Amino acid sequence: MKLSLIIPCHNEAENVRPFVERTLECMELPEAPETLEMIFVDDGSTDSTFANVARAMEEPLSQRVSVKAIELSRNFGKEAAMLAGLEAATGQMLGFIDADMQQDPATSFQMFAYLQEHPETDCVAAVQEERHEGAVLRWFKRHFYRAFNAVGDVELPANASDFRVFRRNVADALMSMPEYFRFSKGLFAWVGFRTHTISYRPAKRHAGSTSWSFRKLFGYAMSGIVSFTAWPLRLILYLGFLTSLISVIYLVVVLVEYLAVGIDVPGYPTLLCIILLFAGVVMLALGIFGEYLGRIYIEGKRRPVYITRQTITRESANAPDPANAPGSSAPHEASDAR
Ligand code: UDP
Ligand code: MG
Repeated sequence: MKLSLIIPCHNEAENVRPFVERTLECMELPEAPETLEMIFVDDGSTDSTFANVARAMEEPLSQRVSVKAIELSRNFGKEAAMLAGLEAATGQMLGFIDADMQQDPATSFQMFAYLQEHPETDCVAAVQEERHEGAVLRWFKRHFYRAFNAVGDVELPANASDFRVFRRNVADALMSMPEYFRFSKGLFAWVGFRTHTISYRPAKRHAGSTSWSFRKLFGYAMSGIVSFTAWPLRLILYLGFLTSLISVIYLVVVLVEYLAVGIDVPGYPTLLCIILLFAGVVMLALGIFGEYLGRIYIEGKRRPVYITRQTITRESANAPDPANAPGSSAPHEASDAR
């Protein structure tokens, strides 16, 4: 059975070589797949990532490994790169793995072996045993999952990333969702299927630095909420009810006070507070509307999620097509886009 490993890369020039070496090493493991298709998706790197992948493809590889390198026309984000990989993959089983050596291909092969032994399972997700991250980030993450699961229509398992191996039916389901704003944790949860989790210990990044700043992560989390639930809109409704109710009560209080004892001071501070409070609530509501409206606007354009600049393939020695002899790499220009 063939496994397609999809490797999104953004400025991973230093990591390509060690990653390929480690993967080839793992091909000797008993749980390694019969044939492996490595799909590197260069997500608009500004360093020599693509050139390094192309160079690695020239070198002798295992007979059981084929490599595809897809270069996107610019940086579209990891989610877009993952979709590009999915659409190029030909294996019966597919998997995502990072290029930075934090995740071990041996774990992917373990997940692959698990799926082979358990036909009732469709997807295996690797969950981090412990995270190398600060207390603030951990706090935000924990509360994000809690909030998302409290209001969302789908349950996001905490700590489950996109380090997974899954069957073709799961991949087809993921590809059937054409949305521009992709939040893979949510997409995996939304498509359902039977998922088994295993735990793994992430290593330190081999080289380079993470592309995720706290600001980016926060934006991604917000984007996930807006993509998967309309609950913030309902929140506005409740907020409207609540403020109306408080207003009516206060109105009655003021009226009674006026009729019973008379009001001699105009109540300037009260007025100011109420105006400011309500202005804030209205702005908040507009902001939330705006978030959704912006999404509808962008999605409505139906632009492709990514654009490919070029694709290079190198078939494995035991590939059925004789046109792709072992060792030959066939670059071709492609402009397929989604
Ligand atoms: N990545 C990508 N496009 C981006 C950002 C990241 O393809 O815009 C890739 C990156 O090269 C790596 C994986 O996504 O293989 C995970 O990224 P990173 O290591 O920065 O994330 P972290 O491990 O810190 O969550
Ligand atoms: Mg990483």
